[in-house]
Amino acid sequence: MNKAVFLDRDGVINYEDGDYTYDKEFFRINDDVFEALKIFIDRGYLLIVITNQSGIAKSVYHHENVEELHEYMSATFAEHGIEFTEIYYCPHHPDFTECLCRKPQNIMVEKALARFNIDPKASFVIGDRERDIIAGGTAGLTGILIESNSSLVEVVPMIP
Ligand SMILES: [Mg+2]
Ligand SMILES: [Zn+2]
Repeated sequence: MNKAVFLDRDGVINYEDGDYTYDKEFFRINDDVFEALKIFIDRGYLLIVITNQSGIAKSVYHHENVEELHEYMSATFAEHGIEFTEIYYCPHHPDFTECLCRKPQNIMVEKALARFNIDPKASFVIGDRERDIIAGGTAGLTGILIESNSSLVEVVPMIP
């Protein structure tokens, strides 16, 4: 079986400024992210992104904006030799549509576990919100809660 590090996006990979991020002009990759993710890859982990993007449900932005941003993000990381195995996002918000994917629910995690044959007991989730940790935890992952926009290199020792 594979092992994986699941990553929340906003506040973990890129700068969380308290507003929706959907334009690459305002997309800032946090310090040390390239360095930390490279170490996870070297240690044999797949990288899976799981992100709530309820701005779609609220019509602040659209699927195309998220997909374009994720293509840009993937290309930027690829330049550093880092590949995301998959990027999952939930476009819903309970004010508009009930769903099973919005964190703290765990369908995005469960999908990845099944599709990529990932052992949850050997895998981790890194997030800056309790809901990230709950989504991973109920699927069997070990959760690591960080301060928004803090250095991911600090959590490297927690992921063997
Ligand atoms: Mg976040
Ligand atoms: Zn959803």
